[in-house]
Amino acid sequence: MPIIEVDNLHKAYGTIKALNGLSFHVTAGEIFGMLGPNGAGKTTTVEIIEGLRSADAGRVSVLDMDVARVPAKIKERIGVQLQAPSLLPLLTVQEILGLFGSFYKKSLSAEEALKLLALEESRRVLVKNLSGGQQQRLSVALALINDPDIAFLDEPTTGLDPQARHSLWSVIEDMRKRGKTVFLTTHYMDEAEHLCDRVAIVDHGQIIAQGSPRALIKDHIRETAIEFEMEPPPPNSLLEELPGTTQVSLEQGTVTIYSSDIAATLSSLLKYTEQTKVDDQLKNLRVREATLEDVFLKLTGRRIRE
Ligand code: ATP
Repeated sequence: MPIIEVDNLHKAYGTIKALNGLSFHVTAGEIFGMLGPNGAGKTTTVEIIEGLRSADAGRVSVLDMDVARVPAKIKERIGVQLQAPSLLPLLTVQEILGLFGSFYKKSLSAEEALKLLALEESRRVLVKNLSGGQQQRLSVALALINDPDIAFLDEPTTGLDPQARHSLWSVIEDMRKRGKTVFLTTHYMDEAEHLCDRVAIVDHGQIIAQGSPRALIKDHIRETAIEFEMEPPPPNSLLEELPGTTQVSLEQGTVTIYSSDIAATLSSLLKYTEQTKVDDQLKNLRVREATLEDVFLKLTGRRIRE
């Protein structure tokens, strides 16, 4: 059952077309991810869904309500992660959780929220004195304070260390277990692959692909990726001619070759490095499964993080 429906959304800022006919839906109870490079239109889309910005054209319904008509009703049932700098700096963690909880008819207690995000030990710390990771967790706790049906989390794990990142993944997975819906934007492809039931990949204000991470990878990439580092890299024209090669990407000394015949590509590559006596410059040669990053590269010719 769709809990969010976005139909043919358009939005321009002056001459910049931020959204150019964007359509997708989010199913109740899933973790949905929106991926895309900087400026692709993610924030604009999310803020239109949340009722914080208006669209020039198109329709958005959330929980079967038209966002343009009843934004206040929708706000009771969604949770939105605000970015840390906008939090009130002179309140303690416990105070800000209590304050935000008081805005809603139904909310978690400050204690429940502290526990959920493992912030108990920071309860008396002023918001301005929290570390980056703690601020990040607090902003997620505030998004969940009204026990929302849908939580919108914007890059929730940016800046977290691996342990904090994994513990936040568990919080997000727990929400799904409790039947909640999570709408996530992220730059981390591994995060999207690990957490999301479905993702939409956005570029230049349009959805260029959507589906489960596994299906997207399977549908778009039949090849395996061969990666290595070499400075300077072999000429592109040579790499493209290696047997089995379908696409080559060069980025800051890292070469990625997509190959439909790994054995043939690898052996020709090694033969080339041996013959030209550059084999000692070939570093970190590895063969890996394709990822969502590869899907993006295949569809656009660019990487998500540039
Ligand atoms: P990021 O990952 O960098 O946050 P994004 O995918 O969220 O990017 P948006 O913030 O939605 O992208 O921006 C889409 C386009 O619209 C960009 O070209 C951006 O510069 C432009 N834009 C966004 N907000 C405004 C605004 N308030 N005024 C003018 N242009 C804007």
